[in-house]
Amino acid sequence: MSDEGRAALERARARLDSLTLYPEPIRTDRVRIVVAPWFFRLPRFRRYSGYALWRTILLRNPPREGVSDDLVCHELCHIWQMQNRPVAMTLTYLATRYRDNPYEAEARWAVAQTR
Ligand SMILES: [Zn+2]
Repeated sequence: MSDEGRAALERARARLDSLTLYPEPIRTDRVRIVVAPWFFRLPRFRRYSGYALWRTILLRNPPREGVSDDLVCHELCHIWQMQNRPVAMTLTYLATRYRDNPYEAEARWAVAQTR
């Protein structure tokens, strides 16, 4: 991972550490940021700029301080959710529309709360 990616991840972690959404603090030691513009050309993912997998945050563009910080914070919040509620989160994503998903609302709240 690039130095910019590592720094972006640290800034996001510092923001989320100020919240108490889950009893276990977020673990970022094995999380990495991967810039993958090709992923966001896939029809299903065209509308996103970032996407969280279990231990990987995919970004459409390279992370830049002040530009992508909210996006990285949002995606890292999803990884925190997955670390604490893996089953509930997966089921919710299968059963709920994106805009009604409570985990999406929570990630947006976390970003706004730490801005
Ligand atoms: Zn999201």
